[in-house]
Amino acid sequence: MKAAVLTTPGKVAGRPLQVEDVDKAEAGAGQVLLRVLACGVCRTDLHIVEGELPLRREGLIPGHQIVGEIVGGATLELPLGARVGVSWIGGTDGSCWYCRHNFENLCDAPTFTGYNVDGGYAQFAAARADFVFPLPEELDALHAAPLLCAGIIGFRALRVAGVEAGERVGLFGFGASAHLAIEVLRAWGCAVYVSTRGQSHRRLAESLGATWVGSEVDRPPVELDRAVTFAPSGKVVVAALGCLRKGGVVAINAIHLDGIPAFDYDRLLWGERQIRSVTNMTRADARDLLRLAAELHLRPKVTTFPLDEANEALAAVKRDSIDGAAVIIP
Ligand SMILES: [Zn+2]
Ligand SMILES: [Zn+2]
Repeated sequence: MKAAVLTTPGKVAGRPLQVEDVDKAEAGAGQVLLRVLACGVCRTDLHIVEGELPLRREGLIPGHQIVGEIVGGATLELPLGARVGVSWIGGTDGSCWYCRHNFENLCDAPTFTGYNVDGGYAQFAAARADFVFPLPEELDALHAAPLLCAGIIGFRALRVAGVEAGERVGLFGFGASAHLAIEVLRAWGCAVYVSTRGQSHRRLAESLGATWVGSEVDRPPVELDRAVTFAPSGKVVVAALGCLRKGGVVAINAIHLDGIPAFDYDRLLWGERQIRSVTNMTRADARDLLRLAAELHLRPKVTTFPLDEANEALAAVKRDSIDGAAVIIP
């Protein structure tokens, strides 16, 4: 099968992914084999390919927002031809303290799709049958792919931030995840304040119903109940903290951050303000978001790339030059 393979991490400008023929993926015990219909591109893929997250296996096929059709390992619940999604959490041990206490997102021995097992930048991919999600009819493959990490983790970030209906919520950065989160927030009757670089991202935020839109250095005109940051930048976290009311929460939706600068505790954190990270996702988050996406007719804005242009897709994510999400069609 054709796949984009990472052997040596490096800057995407140097084209670290090699598109080549490799042995076709096979379904092992308890797995299904998928013909990949679409695979979303996530900023985490960029961190893996550029080496900010250490490479866990040589000859890795990245990609963890996979929409596929079952072509092997079918079961009664997952018949041949069924369309399913695969996300970043590709498996857990089911036995550690976290798994036993409803925090499978924090599992001590997790499997991450496209990181410690091969992912979906390929024509076929294998996945654990108990970690795939049947997709609602109304979601086509192309538009379902970005929901599988950008959508689910963005949704989890809203939960971690403790968002309640009608609140004032800030989104700092407006890429693949935020442009889905805003639609969920609007459905909950929240007023959304968006700070982001890039004129076209600001226009997209406006068109999706943001109450206020500003550049990355502008501050919302009101105190926020909650904020979610999406940029891999600690400065942005501190800026978001500075916009909160007492008791407000900043949720950081980033697997990698460049370091948080020192900040004034008395002014920024005192008053029971909180900073929380958002780590991975649970299967319940995935099912809840997919159900909500079907109800709300969530339709991500997508730009497609053929598998041969996997490096270009990552470069576009790095430059923030795409409105919405990048999706690879193998
Ligand atoms: Zn566990
Ligand atoms: Zn992701």
